[in-house]
Amino acid sequence: MEELYEALGLDAGALVGGDLPVHSPTDGALIAEVRTDSAARQEEKIAAADAAFAQWRIVPAPRRGELIRLFADELRAAKEPLGTLVTVECGKILQEGMGEVQEMIDICDFALGLSRQLYGLTIASERPGHKMMETWHPLGAIGVITSFNFPVAPWAWNFSLALVCGDPVVWKPSEKTPLSALASQALFEKALKRFGPAPDGLSHVVIGGGECGERLADDPRLKLISATGSCRMGRHVGPRVAVRFGRSLLELGGNNAMIVGASADLELALRAILFSAVGTAGQRCTTLRRLIVHEDIYADLVPRLKKAYGTIRIGDPLDDDVLVGPLIDGGAYEAMRGALGKVTGEGGAVSGGERVLEDRYPDAYYVKPAIVEMSRQTDTVREETFAPILYVLKYREFDDAIAIHNDVPQGLSSSIFTTDLREAEAFLSADGSDCGIANVNIGPSGAEIGGAFGGEKDTGGGRESGSDAWKSYMRRATNTVNYSHELPLAQGITFGGDEPA
Ligand code: NAD
Repeated sequence: MEELYEALGLDAGALVGGDLPVHSPTDGALIAEVRTDSAARQEEKIAAADAAFAQWRIVPAPRRGELIRLFADELRAAKEPLGTLVTVECGKILQEGMGEVQEMIDICDFALGLSRQLYGLTIASERPGHKMMETWHPLGAIGVITSFNFPVAPWAWNFSLALVCGDPVVWKPSEKTPLSALASQALFEKALKRFGPAPDGLSHVVIGGGECGERLADDPRLKLISATGSCRMGRHVGPRVAVRFGRSLLELGGNNAMIVGASADLELALRAILFSAVGTAGQRCTTLRRLIVHEDIYADLVPRLKKAYGTIRIGDPLDDDVLVGPLIDGGAYEAMRGALGKVTGEGGAVSGGERVLEDRYPDAYYVKPAIVEMSRQTDTVREETFAPILYVLKYREFDDAIAIHNDVPQGLSSSIFTTDLREAEAFLSADGSDCGIANVNIGPSGAEIGGAFGGEKDTGGGRESGSDAWKSYMRRATNTVNYSHELPLAQGITFGGDEPA
């Protein structure tokens, strides 16, 4: 680990003796003891970010973009060690750890281009000699709360856009993955050194648990709270931010489904199901959790899927040929066992789901991904269990498939496999999938940064990353300029002696 820390510019000496133990889910070993931030220290960081805002907001946006360009350079140079640290700390396979860092690089590139494109509209005025337009201004310091399963990319989605938009950031990473956060911050500090003069306090990491996140949520100096995590967490954070009229951007749990139609290309579907359902050991917000299969192909697809599950290599996520690493911890394993126990009681036929490699890794939690055939969608299926459980349901009529698809509280990602144009278009239409992400002939997971990412219903409604998600990090002003010698009122109103224009 020391070599890794050094490559990332982390001071190994500062990672021992702290009050927060960090264990690798790979083997359960203690890899660091970091210091949590006291309420007073957190207060100082928020105050510093707030003070930095006053200076950063007047730096021209393309210059702010230059800082993000330099940060992307650091990320490119450190892609391998940072990707490895992500793997060691959260247990996803190295390909995915590296992919996560690539996502950081991609969003930095996007943000750099954006720094010259923070456009507003010009709007036709109803009054002669008047011009209307909208302008976009930096919003203020913002708070970012992130989950363990993507320890760095969602922060980078927020951070790179926020910085370009003129907003300093205070980041509270998951208490399960503080090292990846501290390493990202160290890389940013390297970029800052090369940037030249910049206000102090543009980026802070605060280490701690839920109480630390709550302090961010309650602080009126943080104009936006972007929070990624479970629906349970969003239910705490959303109202707290709303009470102080702050803005929130919630990226919460998903219960993502795929409909496989009778005309589907089953080879493609099988590969997509496998990646979406077992990738990241079922610990992606966009993991495929429900498979809704047409009755005509059910008997063909499901046995083939079970066979493919049987070939998946489970083990150390740093090994090249491993596809499924460990669950994050014992709590995740218990949640998986609990859900499998409940669905069995609800009539589900379970295959897989057992703990494996226990002898070799007694303090880590490796499981065989589970397939559960269900005759109906029960309350357990409607919940997100953050583990590799794929519920399989059968349908006959397309409308029933859509009804099953949408009959869950969450609305993050979705997909359909079909070669029937009508089905594909119906799935994407107003009365099709009710999710924020709806795909055709690709699985629900593995989004690109160019599109806005997020979902509806209990997923929280937030959108971040690409498209026009940047607007969340800015305040919009509508401006009217009168360049005439008259003062006409809108709607033709006369006031006192005035005549309508
Ligand atoms: P979690 O909700 O347990 O924790 C997420 C973050 O919220 C952590 O930093 C945690 O410390 C913090 N937190 C917890 N309680 C809080 C509170 N009361 N106030 C403020 N902050 C609080 O989630 P997790 O187990 O780390 O991650 C898995 C969950 O995240 C899943 O539900 C998954 O679907 C979701 N997720 C969603 C997205 C998305 O973009 N929609 C992306 C990744 C993960």
